[in-house]
Amino acid sequence: MGFLDISNLQKSFGATQVVKDFNLSVEKGEFISFLGPSGCGKTTTLRMVAGFEVPSAGTIRIDGRDVVRLRPNQRNIGMVFQSYALFPNLTVADNVGFGLRVAGVPRTDRAERVAEMLAIVGLADFGARYPFQLSGGQQQRVALARALAVRPQVLLLDEPLSALDAKIRVSLREEIRAIQRKLGITTIYVTHDQEEALSMSDRIVVMNNGVADQVGAPFDIYNRPATRFVASFVGTLNLLDVRVVDAGAGTVSLGGTTVPLGRQLRGDKVTLALRPEAVGLAPSDGRTLGVEGRIAEVHFLGSVIRIRVRVGDARISLDTFNSADHPPPQVGDPATVWLNPRDLMVLAD
Ligand code: ADP
Ligand code: MG
Repeated sequence: MGFLDISNLQKSFGATQVVKDFNLSVEKGEFISFLGPSGCGKTTTLRMVAGFEVPSAGTIRIDGRDVVRLRPNQRNIGMVFQSYALFPNLTVADNVGFGLRVAGVPRTDRAERVAEMLAIVGLADFGARYPFQLSGGQQQRVALARALAVRPQVLLLDEPLSALDAKIRVSLREEIRAIQRKLGITTIYVTHDQEEALSMSDRIVVMNNGVADQVGAPFDIYNRPATRFVASFVGTLNLLDVRVVDAGAGTVSLGGTTVPLGRQLRGDKVTLALRPEAVGLAPSDGRTLGVEGRIAEVHFLGSVIRIRVRVGDARISLDTFNSADHPPPQVGDPATVWLNPRDLMVLAD
């Protein structure tokens, strides 16, 4: 049993079931992301853990205690929302100390804890300010300090960086992760941003339509996606519908070349997935299979050039690094696409 256990969790609004049999066991100190497109049930699931939403069925246990019937303030959780939701008429220090005051923590202890929390989020000198005097990123740090001040057992964050601009988002995600590690607090982080989930998490729960499609470490989710949905939602992906040459031998035809997949196949067509970074325009150690094609698109992105090569009916995207000595290929040029057959993933639907 984990520190936070969610079993057979379900939620319906009227006739619509938005969370369907959700199961997850989170270890103490783990950082878990719920990753999925808008409307897939991330917030609803998180709100059930927090106690803002009553499950239609299922159990939630924190540290061995069934919390489903407890109110949010009895669950020992801290929560951070997308909108910072600070009290505009309270100073930063009073915002951070709010939960402590409600809990009846004496003034001097409170002041000490508030100072400690503000130091942790890098706002030691900001206690006397009001929220409107802070940037969005600073306000979200205050919200984080406020959530952590009551020393919760579980920290829940719902798209906390979505409202911030790109540069702040990247620096703040590193900071949140560092603080989470330092405090060792069990955390669930909701996001629709795959890069956030991949860079921050111990494990990612990829959600699709109220179901956890796959639960795994970022490396495994990215490199061994369990379903077509996971493969296409996480990262850029080439999807290749190819003809099976010999199902028993596990060979397919890719642009006229017969490619061994090293496993038995079913049917006469399969969908293969291939990451752009697994493909190159030159052979290399692992990339021993060359498939003939023609350059269809060239997108100069700065440090990286994204190239699409037409191979038979398929288009294969690949990335090359810019080099001032080598101008990129031209549309229409013949090209050989090099890959390692082991990088071809056979997808289940
Ligand atoms: P996400 O956070 O992944 O974007 P949500 O959990 O907010 O998704 O929503 C999942 C689905 O549940 C959506 O279709 C949403 O419209 C619906 N939903 C959420 N809250 C309610 C509610 N209070 N009443 C009715 N439908 C809701
Ligand atoms: Mg949401």
